Formats: sequence, structure tokens, C-alpha cells
Amino acid sequence: MAAKKTSAHHVTLIPGDGIGPEVVAAAREVLAAAEVPIVWEERLAGAQVFKKGVATGVLPETIKSLRRNKIALKGPLETPVGYGEKSANVTLRKLFETYGNIRPVHELPGIRTPYSGRGIDFVVVRENIEDLYAGIEHMQTPDVAQALKVVTRKGSEKIIRLAFELARAEGRRKVSCATKANILKLTEGLFKRVFEEVSKDYPDIEASHLIVDNCAHQMVMRPEQFDVLVMTNMNGDILSDLASALIGGLGFAPSANLGDDYAIFEAVHGSAPQIAGKDVANPTALIHSSALMLRHLGELKAAELVENALFATLEDGKFLTPDVAADREPGGTKSFARQVAKNLGRAPRMFPRRAFKRIKMPRVTRAAVMTKPGSRARAGVDVFVESSLTPTVLGHKLEKVCEGLPLKLSLVSNRGIKVYPVEGSSETDVVDWWCARFRPMGGIALTDDVISVLLARINAVMPWMHVEKLSAFDGTGAYSKAAGED
Ligand code: NAP
Repeated sequence: MAAKKTSAHHVTLIPGDGIGPEVVAAAREVLAAAEVPIVWEERLAGAQVFKKGVATGVLPETIKSLRRNKIALKGPLETPVGYGEKSANVTLRKLFETYGNIRPVHELPGIRTPYSGRGIDFVVVRENIEDLYAGIEHMQTPDVAQALKVVTRKGSEKIIRLAFELARAEGRRKVSCATKANILKLTEGLFKRVFEEVSKDYPDIEASHLIVDNCAHQMVMRPEQFDVLVMTNMNGDILSDLASALIGGLGFAPSANLGDDYAIFEAVHGSAPQIAGKDVANPTALIHSSALMLRHLGELKAAELVENALFATLEDGKFLTPDVAADREPGGTKSFARQVAKNLGRAPRMFPRRAFKRIKMPRVTRAAVMTKPGSRARAGVDVFVESSLTPTVLGHKLEKVCEGLPLKLSLVSNRGIKVYPVEGSSETDVVDWWCARFRPMGGIALTDDVISVLLARINAVMPWMHVEKLSAFDGTGAYSKAAGED
């Protein structure tokens, strides 16, 4: 049975690496059988592109195609680990500002898991651009690496509004925000505060907050309690993989990367190189991702047709790929896809359906500045230095450095723990990376000129690698304190 014809959609198709081409071909076969009018533009990204010496892993033709079509279906892209190149996935997400990663997690008919029958049906909405995945890292000393965790009001507002809009589009009743705001009061704390503000605009939807580690625990203990979960990038990345394991594994987890103007649909899983080229990869996740794409294109009927055929095939339990075939005769990627195509027009016997609508993409200001505080003050400066001295010797040396300047050394910390001045001996196992916190003296404003002199003096006795000015907005300190700092 074919979907009702509409005018053709132009979609960029990125087969990707490892099992990518196999699962992408499977999804393509099903959409072709459903007669969804799609003109595919096949383009390269990933390992083959890295091998051509393109550091982003994405060819200019691929970027051009996506700019034109604004929508892509992609297979997984291999990421070199721990050296040189950036992830091609992250490049695509950032280039096209697809800030919202949507990962539906629901129990699938015919797929037995320890959770079967519990009615798992939730969506993880993960921020996709910011956080530690902004990828801003520096070696501070040869032995100390640092990554900046960047969380912005705008980025948070966009993803949180998207979570509420998704809840409305899918007729869901609750959005839970999981953060680590108890420890990371400024970054994760900002996300939580924005959630509390934005939730007031959605009185029809219940809003709640939980700590992300408890969320991991709850997800394993009682996953059926969740409806929509919204999280910063890394928390969402980790917990959505955990979530996929609840419904059968990575082979079953689809995703959408949504932005104001672009959308990229892909499976959650990676290129699984161990099973590539063997016709054993499970194409469910990518076929399901292509159904999400159809919904995004406004092809709601076709999306339902494809999903129903996919779920009916899983329910029948024939032609399942080896990852889920258990004691049944396994099928392969190709035979499973063929069966889904044959099953178009059928629906699973046992599967609750939602009346999906298209998500209304939220519009958040494009202005760079969102908050204008009534007052700003300079509360001090942190200078990060490299030294192999002991805390006490280093502290004395830094006190001498600022003699005669209108500031004083307030403390020295090492890995976030105050180590100077301390009473008695310190248990801290120090490294050669220290934060020296200086405060202005006697109400004198701390100017950039004073900071420049301070840096020049420090540089004469030890290397410094990074400076942070400490701000206070509207009288509130806008920086974290070291453990042990008053
Ligand atoms: P992975 O490719 O997702 O594979 C992990 C394991 O999950 C596989 O070894 C396989 O288990 C199973 N698996 C994943 N997809 C499957 C499928 N469709 N059917 C059946 N089994 C499946 O994760 P990884 O090994 O950590 O990553 C490999 C590469 O993919 C890395 O370069 C990584 O950076 C990249 N990656 C890309 C994306 C993306 O493009 N969005 C996402 C994640 C990872 P068995 O070994 O038990 O068969």
C-alpha cells in the first residue's frame, strides 16, 4: 500500500560508514515501496572524507546539498578517537544549528526485554550544540587537560521550549528536566533556572526537575514514569543510550536533529564496524528515523504507514536480525527491509498509537544578548599558573608578586580545592596547575591595567596560561568558589 502522493521532497542522503550504507539502503527501500515522493541527493561525510584530508569530515558538496535541501537522512559516521579531527556528526549538527536532538524511546511490539509490558513510552530531548560538546579543550600543562562546559540562556531556552512543543505535538502531559545543578550551579543551574521560567508558558504541561544521576537510576528502576525528558548535551547523550537499551538496544533507537531551518535524521547507533558488510545490522533504527523525517516533512500518513509496517514486522518476529532473533531463525538487513516493505498497509496488533502533529518549532530571539543586568562589578581575578612548588611556597611567592598593587591574593586552589592558606596540613594530591584568586583591596576598582601588571609580574616568576575575570551581576557573584573557600 502506497502513501498518498504529494510533490517531491529533495533530501540529502549520507550513507555514512560501517553499517551505514546497509541500513540507509534498507530505509530507502521501504520509503520507495511506500511511494513517498523523494528525490535523494547522495553525498559523502565521515571516514572517507577524513581520508581525503578534509579535517571536518564533511565535503563542501555535502554542505551545499544540505543548505539547498534543508533536510538529510544520514547513516552513522565514524569518529577518530583521541586525535586531530573533530567528529563529522558534531560538525554537521553545529554547522546547521540543529540544536535539538529528539530520541523517542518506546516499547516495541515483539521485542522482548526485561521491561516488556511496562509501557515504556518517553522521549529524550537533548541539547545538541553546547555543553562540553562545544569541544573547547586546552592542555593547561603537559599533564592537565581542561574542557569548557558552555551552557547559554539562549541554547537552554531553545531546547527547553522544543521539549514543551514536542510534548504538545505528541499529546504528552509531562516534561522532566534532569540536571546536575546541585554541583554545577552556574552551568547546569542556568539550564534548570531557564526550565523553571519557560515551564510557566506551558501551564497545560506538568513540569518537574530531578538530579541527573537519580534520573539514570529512575530510568532503570521505573522508566514508565517518564514522558518527555530534557537535558544538556552530555547528560542527554549518555542517558539516551541507556534509554535505548531498555527497549532492545541501539539497533532500535531512532533520532532527529532539529533546528530552526534544518533537520538531520539518523539512528542513535554508530558505524558498528565489527558487523559491517555482513548483512546482519538491524535497520529498525534508521527505518524508524526515516519515519520521523516523513513526519517532519508533513507526510503524516506516510510516516504512520512506515511505522506501522515496521512494528508489524517486529511483532511477527520473522526475518529479525541476529541482535534480536534470539532462538528464532535470523534474517538479515536486506530480508528484514524487504519484509517491512511487503508489510506496508499492515499495523501491529498491540501498539498504542499517538495522534501526532507536526512540532511547532519554537522561535527564540536571535539577539546575542538576552539579559542586561542593572549593575556589574569586578569581584576579582583568577590566574591559572603552572608550578611545581608546594602550596605554601607558591602562596608566599604569589603574595610577594602583588605587593604594591591594589589587590591581594585571596587563595590558591588546586583542582578546585583550596590549598593556600589552610590551617594545618593539606591532604590534597596536587598537580602542577593552580588557580590563584586575587581580590581588589579597599574598595578600589580592579582595572584591566592592574590585571596586566599582575600578569607581567607573575610571568616573570612562573608561566600562567589562563585568566578569568570574576564578575558580580546585580550584586551576586557570578563564579564558583573553591572547596574550602569562605
Ligand atoms: P556503535 O557503532 O553504536 O556500536 C556498538 C555496538 O552496538 C556494536 O558493536 C553492535 O553490537 C551494536 N549495534 C549498534 N548498531 C547496531 C545495529 N544497527 N544492529 C545491530 N547491532 C548494533 O558504537 P561504537 O562502537 O562506540 O562506535 C563506532 C563508531 O561509530 C565510532 O567511530 C563512533 O564515533 C561512531 N558513532 C557515530 C554515531 C553517529 O554517526 N551518530 C553515533 C555513535 C557512534 P555487537 O558488537 O554486540 O554486535
